[in-house]
Amino acid sequence: MSTAQNSSQPVYQEVIAAKGRWSRRIEKGQYLKIIDLEGQQAVDFLCYSAELPIDRLNIPNTVKLNKSLYVEKNHVIYSDLAKKMFTVVQDTCGLHDTLAGCCSNEIDYVRYGVVKTQSCRANFTAELAKWSMSTSDIVSNINWFMRVTVGAHGEVEIVPSTSKPGDHVLLRAEMPIIAVISNCPQEHNAAAGFKPTPIEVSVWDQE
Ligand SMILES: [Zn+2]
Repeated sequence: MSTAQNSSQPVYQEVIAAKGRWSRRIEKGQYLKIIDLEGQQAVDFLCYSAELPIDRLNIPNTVKLNKSLYVEKNHVIYSDLAKKMFTVVQDTCGLHDTLAGCCSNEIDYVRYGVVKTQSCRANFTAELAKWSMSTSDIVSNINWFMRVTVGAHGEVEIVPSTSKPGDHVLLRAEMPIIAVISNCPQEHNAAAGFKPTPIEVSVWDQE
């Protein structure tokens, strides 16, 4: 970033507590910065066109058009209508997950035998209600700072993240967006390093 950019201030800034949730409208041309404050914290992420919310994050379009199973610097996040939603302009981590989706009470019971009260799916449902959306509006999401490996024969595994304290992504909104975050409360796998921690989000008018 240039000196001028370093001296600028965010128009909005907030720390999201461990296991917390967040959403906000972001205008075209604004930047959303997400910081993994302590490292190894999965940030489950959804986004919707603020003008036409049924047009929303589409993982297959994003994978096909970026020609990558991972999202990282210079990649674009695409919608159902193959419109540009965000461009990743800064990324100190790389290899952000598109495959594993979000945790839920139901899958955690199946895979770990635990009955939980907090999950990304429940966080998404609660946050989407603020925008007159519901559970049925949850689609496959991006997991910032979460590492999911893919083997030569398609083996998929959630492994410890390589994200370090302070790693961040900076996303430029290419349309007016409703961005929704679940700061993953998972304690039974490596998604949040077995110990969920806070993150910081901020919105900027310039990079
Ligand atoms: Zn989760």
